[in-house]
Amino acid sequence: MISIFFRTAVALFIVLPWIGPAGAAPVERPNVIIIFADDLGWGDLSCQGHPTIATPNLDRMASEGQRWTDFYSAASVCTPSRAALMTGRLPIRSGMCAETPRVLVANSPTGLPHSEITLAEALKEVGYATMCIGKWHLGRPAEFLPKSQGFDEYFGLPYSNDMGRFKKIPRRGKDGEPDYRACRVPLIRGDEVIEPATDQRQLTKRYTEESLRFIKTHKDEPFFLYLAHTMPHVPLFRSEKFVDHSRRGRYGDVVEEIDDGVGQILDTLRQLKLDKKTLVVFTSDNGPWLVFKEHGGSAGPLRDGKGGTFEGGMREPAVFWWPNTLAPGIVRDMGSTLDLFPTCVKLCGAQLPDDRQIDGVDISPALLGTGKSPRETMFFYRAEKLYAVRHGAYKAHFFTRPSYGKDAMTEYEHDPPLLYDLGQDPGEKYNIAAKHPEVIAQIKRIAEQHLKGVVPVENQLEKGYRLKKRRAVKTVPVKKPIPDRE
Ligand code: MG
Repeated sequence: MISIFFRTAVALFIVLPWIGPAGAAPVERPNVIIIFADDLGWGDLSCQGHPTIATPNLDRMASEGQRWTDFYSAASVCTPSRAALMTGRLPIRSGMCAETPRVLVANSPTGLPHSEITLAEALKEVGYATMCIGKWHLGRPAEFLPKSQGFDEYFGLPYSNDMGRFKKIPRRGKDGEPDYRACRVPLIRGDEVIEPATDQRQLTKRYTEESLRFIKTHKDEPFFLYLAHTMPHVPLFRSEKFVDHSRRGRYGDVVEEIDDGVGQILDTLRQLKLDKKTLVVFTSDNGPWLVFKEHGGSAGPLRDGKGGTFEGGMREPAVFWWPNTLAPGIVRDMGSTLDLFPTCVKLCGAQLPDDRQIDGVDISPALLGTGKSPRETMFFYRAEKLYAVRHGAYKAHFFTRPSYGKDAMTEYEHDPPLLYDLGQDPGEKYNIAAKHPEVIAQIKRIAEQHLKGVVPVENQLEKGYRLKKRRAVKTVPVKKPIPDRE
C-alpha cells in the first residue's frame, strides 16, 4: 500500500513538476522568447500611456498577459544591463561595468567572461535550441560572440549601432536626419561578418524575419530566442513601410516597427499552436536617451533617463505573455531583468548554479498567479559604485549624478541620502529624508549588508581600453538635502 502510494507520488512528481494557477492543468516547460528593446523609455508604449506612439500589438500582448509597473533593468547603460540579463547577476560580479568606458567599445578585446553561466547555456543544457538575434554588446571578438556563450545561432550587430562610421559622409543629411551610409556597423551571422556596413534601415525587419524562421524551424522542440533589437537606440532607422508611420516622428516610426514585429511573432506562435507553450517577455535595457531630444524616448512620469540612477534610467516597460498559464493583469510587484534568469531556469526545468551569487529571484509565483514576486529590494549601481537602493516603496540615493549636460562630471554625495516614496511620488520630486530617519537607517543596513557580499573581480570593460584623456569626476558632498530638481 505504502509502495503504491510512494510510486504514485513519485510519478506525479515527475509528470507534474508543479501546478499552474488555481491548481489547474500541469504546466509544461515553455519555449522562451525575450524581446529586448534598446533605450526604450518607460513611457514609450501606448499601453504605458504614450499619447502619440501606437503599439497595438504590445498593447494586446499586455491585455492578454501581464504588464508590470515596477520592473527594472539592472543598469542604466547597455553592456552591464545585458550582462545582468544573461547571467542573473549584478554586473559588478562579472566585471562588466566601469566608469570609463561605461560599455564595451567597438575594438574592446574582451567580453563577458566564459566563467559566467548564461541563460542560453543553462537552457541548452536541458535540450533547448537557442538563438540570439540583434544587438549583443557582450564582446566583439569571435571568442566572445553569442555562439561562445550558449547560443547555437547568431544574427545581428556585435555592439551599438552608433559605434562605427564612414568619415567621408556626415552623420546627418541636409534635413538633419541620420544618414545610414555614415554608420558603418557590421552584421554578423554565426561568427562571420556578412555585411561590413549593413543598411540599418532594414535591421528591425530582418530581425523579425529571422525570428520567424527560427521559431518555424524549431517548432517541434523547446527553444529559447533572445531577440535584442538594435532600435530605438540612436541613430534611428526604419524600413520604407514605417517612414512617417507615427505621429511621434522618427522615434515613433522605429518603435511602431518593433511593435509590428512583436505582432508577427505572436501571430506566428498562434498559427503554429505554440502560443500556449511559449513565454514571451518584452522589456528594455535602459531608459530613454534624453540628450537626443526628439530622437530619444520618454520615461513618462519618471525622473531622468539612460545613464542615471533615478527611476527613468532603469525602470522599464515589461510585458509577459503566455496564454492560459499566466494570470493576466497589471502587476505592481517589483521585478527585474535579473529575475529572468532564475525564473526561466525554474520554468524550463534547468539547474540554477549553486557555486555563485545569483542576484535575481524567481518571480514565477507572480507570473502564475500563485503568489507575489519575492523581490523587495533593488540596487542601483553606476559603474562599480552603489548609488541608490530601493526597499519596498522607499528609495534612498546615496549619490546622484546628472545623466548628461554641463554638470555630468559632478557626482553629489548625499548625507543624509535623498529619500523618495515611490508610491506617493514615482517622479522622485519630493525628498522626505528629514521625516524618515528610521527608513534611511534600514536602507543603510541593507546597503552595508549587500556590499559585504560583493567581492571585487577583474574589470573587463577597462581591459585594453586606451584613454586619450580621462576626465575627472568631481565628488561634491551635500550635507543637507539639495533642492528637489537640479
Ligand atoms: Mg541601451
